[in-house]
Amino acid sequence: MDGAGLPETRSTCPYCGVGCGVLLRADGQGGLSVRGDPDHPANFGRLCSKGSALAETLGLESRLLAPQIDGQEADWDAALQLVANRFKQTIAEHGRDSVAFYVSGQMLTEDYYLANKLMKGFIGSANIDTNSRLCMASTVAGHRRAFGTDTVPGTYEDIEEADLVVLVGSNLAWCHPVLNQRLLAAKKARGTRIVVVDPRRTASCDGADMHLALAPGSDVALFNRLLSDLAKHGAIDHDYLARTEGFDAALAAAEADDVAVTGLQEAEIAAFCDLWRTTEKVVTIFSQGVNQSTSGSDKVNAILNCHLATGRIGRPGMGPLSVTGQPNAMGGREVGGLANMLACHLDLENPDHRAAVRDCWDAPTDIPDAPGLKAVDMFRAVGDGRIKALWIIHTNPVVSMPEADLVRDAIAACPFTVVSDITAATDTARLADVLLPATAWGEKDGTVTNSDRTISRQRAALPAPGNTRPDWAILAEVGQRMGWTKAFDYETPAEIFREHAALSGIAAKFGRDFDISGLAALGDAAYEQLEPVRWPVTAERQGGRFFAEGGFFHPGGKGRLLPVRHRPPAARTEPRYPFRLNTGRVRDQWHTMTRTALSPKLSAHLAEPFLEIHPTDATLLQILPADLVEVQSPLATAILRARITDAVQPGQVFASMHWTGETAPSARIDALVPGATDPVSGQPESKASVVAVRPYRAA
Ligand code: SF4
Repeated sequence: MDGAGLPETRSTCPYCGVGCGVLLRADGQGGLSVRGDPDHPANFGRLCSKGSALAETLGLESRLLAPQIDGQEADWDAALQLVANRFKQTIAEHGRDSVAFYVSGQMLTEDYYLANKLMKGFIGSANIDTNSRLCMASTVAGHRRAFGTDTVPGTYEDIEEADLVVLVGSNLAWCHPVLNQRLLAAKKARGTRIVVVDPRRTASCDGADMHLALAPGSDVALFNRLLSDLAKHGAIDHDYLARTEGFDAALAAAEADDVAVTGLQEAEIAAFCDLWRTTEKVVTIFSQGVNQSTSGSDKVNAILNCHLATGRIGRPGMGPLSVTGQPNAMGGREVGGLANMLACHLDLENPDHRAAVRDCWDAPTDIPDAPGLKAVDMFRAVGDGRIKALWIIHTNPVVSMPEADLVRDAIAACPFTVVSDITAATDTARLADVLLPATAWGEKDGTVTNSDRTISRQRAALPAPGNTRPDWAILAEVGQRMGWTKAFDYETPAEIFREHAALSGIAAKFGRDFDISGLAALGDAAYEQLEPVRWPVTAERQGGRFFAEGGFFHPGGKGRLLPVRHRPPAARTEPRYPFRLNTGRVRDQWHTMTRTALSPKLSAHLAEPFLEIHPTDATLLQILPADLVEVQSPLATAILRARITDAVQPGQVFASMHWTGETAPSARIDALVPGATDPVSGQPESKASVVAVRPYRAA
């Protein structure tokens, strides 16, 4: 039986923040066929290699199918009661800030909402942070500083309506491939010009008109030069500027910066500024090369400054567009799943906001008035004993966090660690005291929000295997067993979604942007049928863009330009560590490969971890193509296959971040990356470590 006669289920791809719609058809043998949904507004039927190979990743061979306590199979009752008891006991003995949740942009909005509600509203701590801290925390900080809220102003359609698209720190071709397909189609149709700003010549440069290979971390200086150039040539939109404040200070800071730190030629800088200034419809897409930096927030604001100063925002084909790495990074932001945020874009520091959320939740305790521990600090607190009970949900920090060896040792020493995941075969799961088996993509129901604010359903097309349960049900059960029976009494994800939507209506009364109150009365059947919808969703408005006429969310309604200055990366190269290490994704793998490694087709693209190094450096170090090389940072050493290429600049090397202790024990790249973070966003600097490189000689 091939399932051809069975109906298709509409769902959403579980990989990147593009949020492509997929159509799933059960094959009658426990698997699915997957094709792009022609009606989904993110992809209109397109899929990239990862989305196309989803059907190859659904096997049960590596699945966690029953709870485990200390490595032994257990029943749900014993596992959940142990989790509830140990968290309660730890809080009673050491206080509410002695526990923490580390969650993930892989979670559905309903799961994320309950994790945040349990920690901030009922446990009464803000110690919930997420792997989205590694992904887009700097964008959140930049948005909030400029707009008053974490608002994405534009839409994907802007990419197709722009005449110039600037990709900053974004390898769109590999990391958001369907958006890149849309961009290249627009280039073909209307001649859109494309500029790539990236130290490395990535696959995104293949379709570009200009590549600015700036020095790592120097984006602020480049965009400061652009702001100065716009002012010098009378290209500032003073009517729009009246809806903002801070221009004079931002310009003074920009003029004081020295673009020479970018290492670019004056002629190419001038060409970029001319193109930007003389093109009205400009979209600037930015991603991890901007965010993963100790000056990430300032980089975001340097970009936003240029769009605000020229009024190129919120109108068709114009505006900044942050593209998120994870499928539900945006949903996590909306529910307040970061240590410094409250639900529905409300502010932890605001007593009225806290009181409103507490009332809505009927919470027994005050919501904390200060941020909790952000990811890097959270694991350091695990390491030094301040955190004594930790729940990690759908993420693998032993591989993906900076200073990963310290994170591994901290988790190993933590008195009580719970891991919820779909597999026990991760470096993190192996350290857990309790393993909770969750349902996987294709088996679970809920919503996700993509990078242009479109909320889409993920739907189950396969039965939950073994003893797996949805994350929302696991969290609700633990909340109930900790004593909050009524507050965590949910039967369906639709109930949670309605509560989330109703809370957004309360937030809107405080002038917040995230308002989906129009979905608060959605019945179960309507939730089941929910079509992709871009927020806001209210009685008066659905979707659209923000800020074409101003209307910012700061008190007084003005947007803010920020004075920002170039700061170099925290780690400095020195004779012992002369290379700058950049890290990133490859086209056909995802995060720590728990899903994509199951696909033979995806693994055929790049079969093993590698280090890109420039031919000049390779010659000096006597490294030949495909040699093994040892890459050493002040923290750790990795052994990788050399790929000699002039895609990287001399003095710079690049390594992918996917391979793990399971697939390649010597290639845990994030063990090399230090824990330096942006002082505003707390996001680690994953793209500017310092390392030594030498040929590997087996002992
Ligand atoms: Fe999935 Fe992203 Fe590829 Fe779309 S672009 S199919 S969301 S991985």
